[in-house]
Amino acid sequence: MMRLAMANSPKSVTIRSYNVGFGDCFLLSFQYAANSERHVLIDFGSTGLPPDAPATRMMDIAQDIKTRTKGKLHAVVATHRHKDHISGFETKKGGTGTGDVIRSLKPGLVVQPWTEDPDLDPKATGPKSNKKSAKRKLTTMGRDTPKHIAALSHMHGIAQQMLSVRNLPRAIKGELSFLGETNLANLSAIKNLKDMAKNSYVFCGKKSGLERLLPGVKVHVLGPPTVAQTDTITKQRSSDPDEFWQFQAKAVSSDEHVTDARQILFPRHVQSQDSRFPINARWLIYHSRMTRGEQLLQIVRMLDQQMNNTSVILVFEVGKKRLLFPGDAQIENWQFALSQKKFEPLLKSVNLYKVGHHGSRNATPKSLWKLFQHRDTRKSPGRLKSLMSTMAGKHGHADGKTEVPRKTLVSALTRESDFFTTQELKRANFFHDTVVTF
Ligand SMILES: [Zn+2]
Repeated sequence: MMRLAMANSPKSVTIRSYNVGFGDCFLLSFQYAANSERHVLIDFGSTGLPPDAPATRMMDIAQDIKTRTKGKLHAVVATHRHKDHISGFETKKGGTGTGDVIRSLKPGLVVQPWTEDPDLDPKATGPKSNKKSAKRKLTTMGRDTPKHIAALSHMHGIAQQMLSVRNLPRAIKGELSFLGETNLANLSAIKNLKDMAKNSYVFCGKKSGLERLLPGVKVHVLGPPTVAQTDTITKQRSSDPDEFWQFQAKAVSSDEHVTDARQILFPRHVQSQDSRFPINARWLIYHSRMTRGEQLLQIVRMLDQQMNNTSVILVFEVGKKRLLFPGDAQIENWQFALSQKKFEPLLKSVNLYKVGHHGSRNATPKSLWKLFQHRDTRKSPGRLKSLMSTMAGKHGHADGKTEVPRKTLVSALTRESDFFTTQELKRANFFHDTVVTF
């Protein structure tokens, strides 16, 4: 009878953008018949609060989510495992963490990228590791999947090492430690996401399970691609030296049985003999002293991008309206979806765009931006809406045109869409609501 009381399709959705500083946190509240709402939280993390925010900001947000949802969250989407997207899911002893609050809202589903699927973890043990289903998954997802998963998990080891490296030029130290911190394993958050609800691990074209919880809403998964899907693209672009998956293949191909980070990622490494440092850090210390700082930074940026490219890309479709939430997906993640003709009409008609990767230069591919037909230099009623969660001065540098948010992108967003950035929110004002009617 409850089902009958609910209208078949939502009338509108309110997107609450929280100001987490550098990070993402969006609460989507779909309004059905009177007093009937369904809530989806997309990401909750930060690597740096705004300077004018109280230290309680993350807990204030968790409590606001609790109030806004009246204690019931229908689903959580954790786009990828970077700290600025999942630190809010951290738990604390005694249940006093922000992640404990979210868990108490009893979400019905947690959606994450396929790279988080414990079935695919080569080291997985316990009841979740079902050999038969794992084997079946590998057939569809690509033979090299375990290598890819292993390399991603080694990223956390690399990040740890980054934070212990000394004697680096000051110019690169800031960004290195920022990227190191972003990539650190966030164990309690990861465990909480795995345990708080039923899990859905998605890839391009897969059903997310969200539709069951959101009547009248179609949810399309456009990314991340699987290894098999990416291979089709890689073959077409085999001459691109920056191609992420090629780097990945090289990094892991030397010895698939070795599970040590330094050996897998840099097979022919030379170690520093300096015994003051943990053995895992010695190869890096050696290289950091021998290599120009900028080269080291390039390696770390590439590792960081690999994790961004595991981001879940979702399009929510109600009637003729489409909302695009791509997490931090960068060009390599987008390539597969953009190469599929079937997604073109969907992307062309996007009405609301959550700007990818806090406005960084390579997360809004130009080919994607050009597809958006609702871009308009005039303030028309049907104009594209764009939402960005960011904080300037944390990531990249203006002289290298890598600053986040990127100036040229922000001016295009300002010129051709109804643009909102969390940087407009000051002090106690910690969220902004955007309404889309259907
Ligand atoms: Zn991010």
